[in-house]
Amino acid sequence: MKISLSGVSPLSSGAGIESEHVRVLILGSGPAGLSAALYAARADLNPVVLAGMEMGGQVALTYTVENYPGFPEGVGGQELVELFQKQAERFGARIDFDLALEVNLRERPFVIKAYSKTYLADTLIIATGATPNHLNVPGEKELTGKGVSYCATCDGWFFKDKDVVVVGGGDSALEEGIFLTRYARSVAIVHRRDTLRAGAILQKRARENSKISFLFNTIVTEIIGQDAVRQVRLRNVQTGEEWLRDTDGVFIFIGHSPNTQLFEGQLEMDANRYLIVDRLMQTNIPGVFAAGEAADPYFRQVITSAGMGAAAAMRAIHYLQERSAEKVSA
Ligand code: NAP
Repeated sequence: MKISLSGVSPLSSGAGIESEHVRVLILGSGPAGLSAALYAARADLNPVVLAGMEMGGQVALTYTVENYPGFPEGVGGQELVELFQKQAERFGARIDFDLALEVNLRERPFVIKAYSKTYLADTLIIATGATPNHLNVPGEKELTGKGVSYCATCDGWFFKDKDVVVVGGGDSALEEGIFLTRYARSVAIVHRRDTLRAGAILQKRARENSKISFLFNTIVTEIIGQDAVRQVRLRNVQTGEEWLRDTDGVFIFIGHSPNTQLFEGQLEMDANRYLIVDRLMQTNIPGVFAAGEAADPYFRQVITSAGMGAAAAMRAIHYLQERSAEKVSA
């Protein structure tokens, strides 16, 4: 479920008018956020999850997940999110379809302003995930939604019997490229090196798919078209040769950036703006935990995000218990 917030500004929305105190507030509704919700709910903490821009996060846009244990035949990304949500809600978690706009982690409780209200949270679990990177070439921005896409599951259907280009050489590029062959007539995978980063199984499947071809050592330098994508300008990075290729679509899968802008200046981050957490999912502010892709530049799997979410919630529970014990003894 995509949440439309276009045309709404924080001021016009009346952010901050109503406030609610919560013991555990979770930002983000992907595998990390919903797993954290499950664990916090089972500790009777009635956690509230702010769903963010996209209910379920990136996995909700994935056609099928084949590497989450317990589903030997694979499971639809959307279906998996619904199961996570149902399980967390069964124990008392609440999902609010809202988006955090501003956080103040210097105050106690923490203050999180969202569109509909202000949340005052004793503990905060950040599971805001990551967003696909852009190529930043001419034509990309103008033609997004007109043939340029970052989601094959969302847009693949529009390319029935068409020719598409997929950019990237990682698991996402190959997985989504293979998915696109359901619809497209041809899928050309354009990769900047001559070695794919993707895992062996996906590589084998892609190479065996007769609709897929590879353009190695090649980059897209321009996306061309007026109301729709018509061509891409390609360059061989070894020879410098440039040429135009006709295409109806360009799908870009070149990695992600963490959604952590909200915490700049308050939480420690690495050079790529991933939140820094210790082994216990704790950020530099006691009571603020982070899980999933916002804090994980390495694994970025549903299972690792879910595990981080569970761990963050267990530490949040521990943190609250310690604080109430301190109050009793004081
Ligand atoms: P990724 O592994 O970081 O791969 C990004 C790809 O894009 C790389 O091949 C990279 O090239 C290329 N690239 C980066 N910047 C580029 C640019 N400016 N121009 C052209 N190409 C560029 O990202 P991902 O494929 O999204 O995967 C992210 C994580 O999710 C990984 O850990 C992956 O294993 C996981 N994942 C797993 C599955 C699965 O298991 N089924 C599915 C999807 C994702 P270089 O190789 O030259 O760096």
